[in-house]
Amino acid sequence: MDFIITTQKANCRNCYKCIRACPLKAIAFGDDQARVVAEDCILCGRCVQECPQGAQQAASDLPAVRRMVAAGLKVYASVAPSYQAAFPGVSFAQLSAGLKRLGFTAAEETAIGATQVSREYARLLAEGKMENIITTCCPALVLLVEKYYPALVPQLAPVVSPAAAHCRMMKNMFGNRIKTVFIGPCIAKQQEAREGTAINAVLLYGELRDWLAREGVAVVVLSSEAQEIIRVCDRALVLYHGALQGEVSGADMNEQTIMHLATGGAAPSAQAIHTEE
Ligand code: SF4
Ligand code: SF4
Repeated sequence: MDFIITTQKANCRNCYKCIRACPLKAIAFGDDQARVVAEDCILCGRCVQECPQGAQQAASDLPAVRRMVAAGLKVYASVAPSYQAAFPGVSFAQLSAGLKRLGFTAAEETAIGATQVSREYARLLAEGKMENIITTCCPALVLLVEKYYPALVPQLAPVVSPAAAHCRMMKNMFGNRIKTVFIGPCIAKQQEAREGTAINAVLLYGELRDWLAREGVAVVVLSSEAQEIIRVCDRALVLYHGALQGEVSGADMNEQTIMHLATGGAAPSAQAIHTEE
């Protein structure tokens, strides 16, 4: 199976941004191409975010999840608590309704698994057998310890993450044949899914947002990224100093118009914005 991050060679422009961004020097350069060294990488995702060409790409489970749904399988979502930051103002009930529109059987919050994990941590503490206990639900941190501080591995709590615990709980509850999809912010979760059997697939918030938008499910997005707004929104309300500066949609949904309003430009008619340059 391919490593989770791959470099699209045709897109790489040798700018070294990913190399500078990597905190662990896990990107090699050769033949005018940057390449992630799988053995050294902890999947923190910074190079994917930093590459201006989109050349560093994370694997996507989206096609696999869509196939599961299209095949009529029972697909359950485990949604990370950070959905509140990714979908500001959207309640879990609303997000759950959107997921059902996409074909998910049901959605639950990963926090359900966190309660079980917390009990395990408490049990380890009470047991008192481990001198130090490193607790984390972050697979990138686990990889950091395993690859760079192997002496600390015995101090990692032998407890699965809330995501894995929750997906296992759902399989116990609804049957082992269901498919579980963890939805969260982090590409490292894909590694965790590959290593175990509890999580069948991982969706990132951006992938979910794009999928919802393509299916015409209404989602309110708060973003300062013009390109993201253009990609996923039908209509944008642009604020300047907290006040509504203007509204764009349709053919006017372009970076020039959005930036004009976002930097305090007067809110002329969309036509005027187009013709002033
Ligand atoms: S940031 Fe992107 S374009 Fe620049 S060197 Fe890395 S992969 Fe190539
Ligand atoms: S994911 Fe993080 S650790 Fe891995 S190569 Fe990219 S920046 Fe470095």
